[in-house]
Amino acid sequence: MHAYETNGQYLARYLLDHHLDGRGQQWNSLGSALLVSNRSDDWVEAFQEMVSLQLARRLILAGDKLIERHDLPAAEKEIKQVIIDTMMVHYTLAGDVYERLLPAIHSARQRISNSVRQSVTALARREMPYCYLCGTPMAFIGDGHDAFTLDHVWPRAYGGNSVFDNLLGACRSCNEAKASEPSWAMYPIQSYVAGFEVQDLEDMPKVMRFAVQARAAKQLAQREGHSLRDAYLRLGRPSHPAVVSGATAVDLFNLEFNVR
Ligand SMILES: [Zn+2]
Repeated sequence: MHAYETNGQYLARYLLDHHLDGRGQQWNSLGSALLVSNRSDDWVEAFQEMVSLQLARRLILAGDKLIERHDLPAAEKEIKQVIIDTMMVHYTLAGDVYERLLPAIHSARQRISNSVRQSVTALARREMPYCYLCGTPMAFIGDGHDAFTLDHVWPRAYGGNSVFDNLLGACRSCNEAKASEPSWAMYPIQSYVAGFEVQDLEDMPKVMRFAVQARAAKQLAQREGHSLRDAYLRLGRPSHPAVVSGATAVDLFNLEFNVR
């Protein structure tokens, strides 16, 4: 059985596998240019992922606006044109992309229902009253920085469904820091290039910590066939990342996420 994935994940995976795969000449050249880093495969994978996410985001955003303005047959024609213009693909392929894009657009437009809100809240109160992103205990009453909020693990703007399997409790402060970006896309490009000063790890900005944690969750999900949400749960209450090897630069690929 396949682990649950949101419509947006399905779209991004399709774009990655069928339109941005690793066999293309441009990725090979990027790979050789990055060989000097000793981690060219990781780099290429990270760049591909960023590109597929940005592409998914742009298509969903454009589709959302078109669906708001037109009825479906007219919107379909316009959306397919956006796909052709953005991805420079043939009309016949645009239909394949459209089939995956439309459900993701609907997910992006979907709100959290009261019953879903209640079941996620009940689970958080009962079993994990801490923020899944920073580990801080959450307040279930009031609206301070530690207030309980519902966070889409795969963001709604990227086609994340508003369902139990894609929602976890996060403190208001983390939810606002994350906004509608996927955590793993928030890693500042400077730290990809330059790495970190090791002594700064304790004060690592929130968004960087999110990125290390998200990478660990993604790898765990892929390795053990979990949904992304369940992988976050398996990682447990978050703590600070640790350096894997002191022998090389401390960049995203050289940090691991520990369980407290
Ligand atoms: Zn938090």
